[in-house]
Amino acid sequence: CGIIGCVGRGDQTLKTLLGGLDTLEYRGYDSAGVALANGSVQTAKKAGELDALREHLADKSLSGTVGIGHTRWSTHGPPTDENAHPHCDCSGDVAVVHNGIIENYQTLRDELAADHEFRSDTDTEVIPHLIEALLVDHDPETAVRAALDRLEGSFAITVVIAGTDAIFAARQDSPLVLGIDDGATYLASDVPAFREHTDRVVYLDDGQFVRLDNDDGGYAVTDFDGTPRDPPVETVEW
Ligand code: GLU
Repeated sequence: CGIIGCVGRGDQTLKTLLGGLDTLEYRGYDSAGVALANGSVQTAKKAGELDALREHLADKSLSGTVGIGHTRWSTHGPPTDENAHPHCDCSGDVAVVHNGIIENYQTLRDELAADHEFRSDTDTEVIPHLIEALLVDHDPETAVRAALDRLEGSFAITVVIAGTDAIFAARQDSPLVLGIDDGATYLASDVPAFREHTDRVVYLDDGQFVRLDNDDGGYAVTDFDGTPRDPPVETVEW
């Protein structure tokens, strides 16, 4: 039920994600998880409180300079470790967090099931598998855009892909806001998740796609079809 992501935070990435998830707690959740990417994608996720995720993370050494995190309020599938986000494709190279509901997930799952092993009961898991299938013929950004074309329902989704030093995100009927700082960009369901880092925000609209780049910490907003958009940067007073 809450999303956080950041680029340009270097070795503070995981800490930034967990701090963001802490402030999103008020939205309610039954599980939580994170994915970090540098060359490869590494994920950790756990049903229950954020402390359960923190404990789980203590046994792992997750590193990466782009990161996404999620608190889940389950709609499809019970709150289990497997159903927690992020969800990955078969190769483990694509990780996705999602708020909302993919209405046509059963159709997509039936289509993908022959070649893709599903590991959760969620509607969300079709997204990484769809991207994996599209990556065969497309570069990462084009693959994510092509996947969006197939989704029906409400979503704020955030994607990391191995070997891609960027985050891709999109919104349709679920909130997503950017936090703009010098050399770093945040994205979240709500401003408090990154308010301790910056007071400059960009509210994304339905039908918008954003790419966050780690090398310069910058971002680019477009419509789903690629038309550039330049939404205003606003300063929050609180
Ligand atoms: N429908 C997804 C699920 O059940 C996302 C739920 C959410 O918005 O947290 O996993």
